Amino acid sequence: MSNTTTIIHDVIIVGAGLAGSWAAMVAAQQGVKDVAVLSKIHPLRSHSGAAQGGIAAALNNVRPVAGTGPRGPLEQVPPGAEPADSIDLHVFDTIKGSDWLGDQTAIEIMCRDAVDVVYEYERLGCVFSRTQDGRIAQRRFGGHSAPRANFAADWTGHVLLHTAHEQALRHGVKFYSEWYCLDLIIEDTICRGVVALDVLTGAIHTMRAKAVLFGTGGYGRAFKITSNAFANTGDGVAIAYNAGVPLMDMEFVQFHPTGLYKHGILMSEACRGEGGYLLNAQQERFMEKYAPDKMELAPRDLVSRSEQREIDEGRGVEADGQGIWLDLRHLGREKILARLPQVRELAIDFVGVDPIDDLVPIQPTAHYSMGGIPTDVDCQVIADASGAPVVGFYAAGEAACVSVHGANRLGTNSLLEASVFGRRAGFAIAEFVKGGAKLQPLGGDPAARQRQRVREMLGREGGELVEDIAQELKTTMTNNCGIFRDEARLRQAWEDVRALQARFRTARVMDKSSRFNTDLLAAIEAEHLLTFSEVIVAGALTRTESRGAHSRTDFPKRDDKNWLKHTVAHKNGADGPQLSYKDVDIDWQKYPPQERKY
Ligand SMILES: Cc1cc2nc3c(=O)[nH]c(=O)nc-3n(C[C@H](O)[C@H](O)[C@H](O)COP(=O)(O)OP(=O)(O)OC[C@H]3O[C@@H](n4cnc5c(N)ncnc54)[C@H](O)[C@@H]3O)c2cc1C
Repeated sequence: MSNTTTIIHDVIIVGAGLAGSWAAMVAAQQGVKDVAVLSKIHPLRSHSGAAQGGIAAALNNVRPVAGTGPRGPLEQVPPGAEPADSIDLHVFDTIKGSDWLGDQTAIEIMCRDAVDVVYEYERLGCVFSRTQDGRIAQRRFGGHSAPRANFAADWTGHVLLHTAHEQALRHGVKFYSEWYCLDLIIEDTICRGVVALDVLTGAIHTMRAKAVLFGTGGYGRAFKITSNAFANTGDGVAIAYNAGVPLMDMEFVQFHPTGLYKHGILMSEACRGEGGYLLNAQQERFMEKYAPDKMELAPRDLVSRSEQREIDEGRGVEADGQGIWLDLRHLGREKILARLPQVRELAIDFVGVDPIDDLVPIQPTAHYSMGGIPTDVDCQVIADASGAPVVGFYAAGEAACVSVHGANRLGTNSLLEASVFGRRAGFAIAEFVKGGAKLQPLGGDPAARQRQRVREMLGREGGELVEDIAQELKTTMTNNCGIFRDEARLRQAWEDVRALQARFRTARVMDKSSRFNTDLLAAIEAEHLLTFSEVIVAGALTRTESRGAHSRTDFPKRDDKNWLKHTVAHKNGADGPQLSYKDVDIDWQKYPPQERKY
């Protein structure tokens, strides 16, 4: 671990997904000379690139054919016709989807900026699918009351990420590819930089900056069955939490209804948006019982719970009864090839089924992290309940919790959030840096602690392997802190997480080398999973209600009187998180809480 140097930039952005790329691109475009992005994997492998279905914006290009009902065919909106969609409708759908836990000012900003951001992507060269008259095509998505998912077949994230990355390069942003951020340097609530490992050489560097942004993505890898990439280990939230920054609403984890059976790999919600059905073992479209109006296009929390009920009551499919059928056959070959080509390939490659001819076995899969690092609407990280900032520290995208998704995210609102708030962060950071922000002095040698951490990890000779501990964590999180939760299971999860944290301290990393040591990285990631999982479980155990994705069988009702509030968790030494609560930003005149029915 030699050759360490101190590296200096004006701005350091950790994460090269949509949030990080937009922030970098805009900060550079706004005149910040020296912007650097760190990514632990190649930037274009960031999970944003795996997104399939679409990005939401009320463009009003497409509408349902009159008189055909909510699932009928779509047509182009003729020029001069009454608008079929509006920003206000998008705002309302998002608030309702969030089970009223979303912050309404932030939601209004996101839905308003959505239209701009999607047209900006188009202007920057993004290859969207088109309507016959050449406008951006739109499809339906769950919980949205109009077709407002803008898409590029089922490669939407791929084309958006390539566009944003190209633009960041064009504006002279420097990329550190395969550099792993190990720590965040905060002293006296002022952020001073990060510590990072150059994966290729194994050298650990202090990296100083006037402003740092975390766009480090989600934490689905804490669960056994997940749609998330291997990289989605919630490093950013764990690192921030360890550095004394609070985490918000971590108990809200989204389970997507259609992961490939046993693999968890995503079959995009676009499958249902394009008209796909869900069937149980008796070939019934069971959503009729649970959401008669929206059917398969109810929001994800509701559809996943419905599937799990069918499975638990013995109407699941496959040998172990743990699957559900996704039926796309009636869409026809042409539509599947034009609109869902990637989904078809994934089904063929991983379960050997061609959706053109056969039913695809699926099951719910851990998909999205509603919680994260709390920020204001300009992505400035908030240090405590008084709203005081961590000066110079910003967060955006899935790692952040500005709270636009509250207790449940609607599909297509996440590519949107990462783009809109990444962009806002870019403007805010540029203003901060150009407004005279100074490089802050460092109290000591922050890289030394990380070098010691790595040395200590590599030196362990305990009998257990780090990987086995990570697997046990994922199993308990899935079994005891999954779609349905109750006190007994959550207590079990709590005990398991705490015991695994203790066992981790002596567990062994097999590869002891310094260059490209992926075993070491997996160990650091496992430590991060163990760090924030205790926050998920503590929040879930304490929240004695059911709201959005957090579903307690022992407290099945939403309880606005006691729980219409955000959970805020601070690290409290070895005792686990200290929880406090924060009001939700609600416009009581315009969007007061209502019962959530679909
Ligand atoms: C399969 C799938 C399909 C999806 N489909 C859709 C969809 O159709 N519509 C939609 O709206 N949303 C979708 N989502 C969700 C959406 O893609 C993500 O929420 C969003 O792209 C997150 O963007 P991000 O920039 O916050 O993070 P990411 O794109 O996940 O990027 C995280 C970045 O952080 C870097 N990083 C992390 N930790 C470190 C570290 N320690 N050091 C250095 N770098 C680090 C990574 O290298 C990466 O560059 C989907 C998600 C999945 C998993």
